[in-house]
Amino acid sequence: IIEVRHLSKWFGSNEILKDINFNVKKGEVVCIIGASGSGKSTLLRCINLLEKPSGGEIFYRGKNILSDKHDLQEYRTKMGMVFQQFNLFNNHNVLGNCTVGQIKVLGRKKEEAVETAMKYLKVVGMDQYINAKPSQLSGGQKQRVAIARALSMEPDVMLFDEPTSALDPEMVGEVLNVMKDLAKSGLTMLVVTHEMGFAAEVADRVVFMDKGVIAEEGTAREIFNNPKQERTREFLKRII
Ligand code: ATP
Ligand code: MG
Repeated sequence: IIEVRHLSKWFGSNEILKDINFNVKKGEVVCIIGASGSGKSTLLRCINLLEKPSGGEIFYRGKNILSDKHDLQEYRTKMGMVFQQFNLFNNHNVLGNCTVGQIKVLGRKKEEAVETAMKYLKVVGMDQYINAKPSQLSGGQKQRVAIARALSMEPDVMLFDEPTSALDPEMVGEVLNVMKDLAKSGLTMLVVTHEMGFAAEVADRVVFMDKGVIAEEGTAREIFNNPKQERTREFLKRII
């Protein structure tokens, strides 16, 4: 569904991503792992075009989205994003967080937006909190609302950038459980994570990044049980 070819990204004179080639198939769960600074967030931000790639191509359903403004607009609405820091709208309550994008970006009627939001708030177990403000929620609850907000836009692909890294340890599980359910439901997901247990359990494919390149990719079993590259082994030794 997404195909990245020869993607590069420079910040000033630093080449942060170098000739990245990979793809995500419909229904696949791909986890991206790698050390801090290896370019994982930058790759995700290039894929949803929060950053402009310096070179290369991104194909979405076979269309080169960097070459056509119209395709690009459509593409943006098809990528759902969940951030480490939640990024909820603090002036809106939970329901508002999940409806405002549907109304403003997708042009949905309020009633339909509410119905859709309720559906996904149920999926993440937050439908009892629709009137709460983000400031009244725990980190785990905020992140589950952020996931419901992204799902309410009914994207084709969900991108997660370390969704549990900012959480207190006791709240990591509730968010990972929601993500596991989504993975099993057939949603296409691209997940940057340090949660190796999660990656081992749900990833169809694991991509290991090192210094701006994809150093190795394979099934979770291949990467975790039998990595081919010395630098993959070194990384896993340090993190597990
Ligand atoms: P982490 O695990 O810490 O989140 P990461 O793998 O996500 O790390 P990136 O955030 O993609 O790494 O950063 C990769 C490199 O790009 C870093 O050296 C970082 O300093 C640099 N970088 C990221 N964003 C910018 C920016 N907007 N301007 C300049 N340099 C940047
Ligand atoms: Mg990052």
